[in-house]
Amino acid sequence: NPLKSFEYRIMPYGEEHLLLIARDVTRLSQLEEMRKDFVANVSHELRTPLTVINGYLEILPDADEQLNPFVKKAYLEMSTQTQRMQSLIEDLLVLSRIEASSERVYENTVDMAAMLNQVKIEADALNKDKHHNIEFHLTPGVRIYGIETELRSACSNLIFNAINYTPEGGNIDVYWSVTKAGVRFAVKDNGDGIEQRHLSRLTERFYRVDKARSRKTGGSGLGLSIVKHVLNHHNSKLQITSRVGEGSEFFFEFDAEMIASQE
Ligand code: ADP
Repeated sequence: NPLKSFEYRIMPYGEEHLLLIARDVTRLSQLEEMRKDFVANVSHELRTPLTVINGYLEILPDADEQLNPFVKKAYLEMSTQTQRMQSLIEDLLVLSRIEASSERVYENTVDMAAMLNQVKIEADALNKDKHHNIEFHLTPGVRIYGIETELRSACSNLIFNAINYTPEGGNIDVYWSVTKAGVRFAVKDNGDGIEQRHLSRLTERFYRVDKARSRKTGGSGLGLSIVKHVLNHHNSKLQITSRVGEGSEFFFEFDAEMIASQE
């Protein structure tokens, strides 16, 4: 039945036999589809009213010089919070789009160094108040199979996180390199690091190590979840090594088969 979906497991059964276990997950996958549709629709519907509210909130304090300081402060706070809500909704939409994406990875190619040079401009802007020493070590001319918007979203999330979660004046290194097995992207920082017990949960939606601090940085809590889905779509996986007090490295690798061309 094409409308039914099953999960299969094969296990040894005695010396000479194999046991095939089929589990009917039709209902589960229907619920999962409903959840995805719901999140996508709600995010989409929330976008318009928020844009209107935000538009007015941004011009009000400037438009009226006479506003008393408390009211002005209230407007500014409301505008910060609506902007946060907007970026949360944008991230939810990005996540839904990636989850639903049927774009074929092998039909497109991306010049990663060129794409990362564009991300560098945004990273430098974000770094204005943080004064980190950010270095990009990029091997030029390697095109890989993949979807540019998705890979850009994954790489920039990792780079912006390093900027946001490293105390002022830190060192951040971004690598795009050819290895024996294929290619590797990495972001290394010398920030506070993350305790081991959190590492396996970091890519869950809305999981944060330090809720109060993460909220202050303005993140949605969806960044690493987006990275996970993008890499899953590209047959790779996010890997994290971190030591408390020393810093973290977030990286992923692609097999040589993912290299489309190399100058
Ligand atoms: P957020 O929007 O909160 O940044 P993410 O999914 O991008 O959400 O990250 C999840 C959590 O992982 C963050 O809240 C933060 O606690 C932790 N984290 C991510 N990157 C780093 C990093 N480079 N150094 C330390 N902690 C990090």
